[in-house]
Amino acid sequence: MKHEFRYHLLASLALFFLVSIFLVIIKSPNIQILYLFLGIFVGSIILDTDHLIFWFFLKPNTEESRLAKITIKNFDIKSLTKLINASHSSHHNLIFHHYFFQSILVLFTFFIFTSTSNLFVLSLVVSLNLHLLVDEYLDFLINPKILQKWLFAREEKQLPVKFLNRYLAIFSIFLIIFIILLFYSQL
Ligand SMILES: [Zn+2]
Repeated sequence: MKHEFRYHLLASLALFFLVSIFLVIIKSPNIQILYLFLGIFVGSIILDTDHLIFWFFLKPNTEESRLAKITIKNFDIKSLTKLINASHSSHHNLIFHHYFFQSILVLFTFFIFTSTSNLFVLSLVVSLNLHLLVDEYLDFLINPKILQKWLFAREEKQLPVKFLNRYLAIFSIFLIIFIILLFYSQL
């Protein structure tokens, strides 16, 4: 998956500008835009840390894992990003990139919205939801079978490929609800 990072950046920027425009319209303090930016930024990168878990704990002895450890040791962020992008299609057994985590995340996001109006926290959780959906749509459009493989990793039975579009539709609706709640939380 070559343009993975580019699509995450695009999706995050779209979310950032959408909410920023709203904040400007309702005359929110400027510091809120900074919180929004930080929340989206942290949220968009945090989920890919499960690739690190894969390299360090699940499959520490592969050539890819050795390469990853060297790039991390040398703080070679550019090579590390490249490695994460390339490994997205080979890592089928991840913790965060999984339907179970995504379902828990949706419940958790609703809970967070009922407990705080802190824009950093809220934009962070919305960004987590967005990240998973971007990964899912990218693989769904290229090859739904790859999506099925990692989304339902470790499961005996997997959701049939023909229902994956409904799965994506449901979680897309959740994301839209969360973005609307994000607006409401700032009123
Ligand atoms: Zn990802």
